[in-house]
Amino acid sequence: MSSSALIIDDSVTVREQIIRTLESFNLFSRYYEAEDGLEGFKKLLSSPVDIILCDLEMPRIDGFKFLNMLKSRPDLQDVPVIILTGMIDRERKIKGLELGASDYITKPFDHEELVARVKIHLKIKKLQDELKRSNELLLELSNTDHLTGLFNRRYMMDALEKEVQRSARRGGNLSLIILDIDHFKLVNDNFGHLQGDVVLQKVALQLQGELRNYDCAARYGGEEFVAILPDSTLQEALFVAERIRLAIAGTRFSGTLAEVLLTASLGVASFSPDLTVGVDGFIKRADDALYRAKANGRNRVDFFDPESATDVTDTLRGGTTATTVIPST
Ligand code: GH3
Ligand code: MG
Ligand code: MG
Ligand code: MG
Repeated sequence: MSSSALIIDDSVTVREQIIRTLESFNLFSRYYEAEDGLEGFKKLLSSPVDIILCDLEMPRIDGFKFLNMLKSRPDLQDVPVIILTGMIDRERKIKGLELGASDYITKPFDHEELVARVKIHLKIKKLQDELKRSNELLLELSNTDHLTGLFNRRYMMDALEKEVQRSARRGGNLSLIILDIDHFKLVNDNFGHLQGDVVLQKVALQLQGELRNYDCAARYGGEEFVAILPDSTLQEALFVAERIRLAIAGTRFSGTLAEVLLTASLGVASFSPDLTVGVDGFIKRADDALYRAKANGRNRVDFFDPESATDVTDTLRGGTTATTVIPST
């Protein structure tokens, strides 16, 4: 078993007794020792352990102070601490438990009782760790689009809400891109739904590949994707959108899909304080821009401009005409 214990006691004899007892039951593969709370805390920060046995009375940083230090570290909350107290220390036992200790053992300790208590707390910790891991997994699954591995719509809406509030409060830039694959229905019709799924996965990769790691890429619906770009101006987001458009238009598929020439249309909007209708209004602006990109011929980027709706794709491309290439059968 590759687990470890930290023994904090100012008496070297007590530390040795504890370690010898635990060793005889093969409970841990590593033992760390410290002679006061501060040394114990430092050891804990450099080497995480599965359980801590800590004396209460020690010079300098005693057991109570150690428990208080532990409280300041949320990442160390799950490590069980068994305090070592004197037989008649009723009040001190209670105080220690109130400060977050999981259990106590009285000195001079009974070896079998020590082992039994340590085993119980290791078992509880193992169950806690498993619960935490499965909760993390559940959370990840509930935020993820299963086909593409991107965030799903629900997560995206929450994230956008937070970003909008942040921008409204601090006045920071925030941009939104909505992408819709052009004539995607033809991919399904010509190559089947499963191949359509392969195309969606590829587009998800392309989209993610053009973003920074603090941007948020999500699948918004069937063949629609959204990217949230914090700290990005409209101009910056337009360049990103254009890069995404080019990446998708440049994608070459293999196998059955080899003849597919895929394109997408993108709508971009930036947050501005006049957005009183919140997230929905923001999405609608990007969606309106997307609608115009579709109406103006697809395979283009358009953006929301409160003054006048301008198509930027031609400007960015130096005036070449957009062509939508559909899969031929
Ligand atoms: P446009 O250029 O106007 O966007 O045309 P389009 O064909 O892309 O748009 P339309 O909304 O008519 O079709 C979208 C298609 O996406 C229809 C639907 O069957 C397909 N679709 C939605 N979700 C999935 C999915 O998870 N997998 C696959 N393979 N297809 C999907
Ligand atoms: Mg002591
Ligand atoms: Mg669509
Ligand atoms: Mg489409």
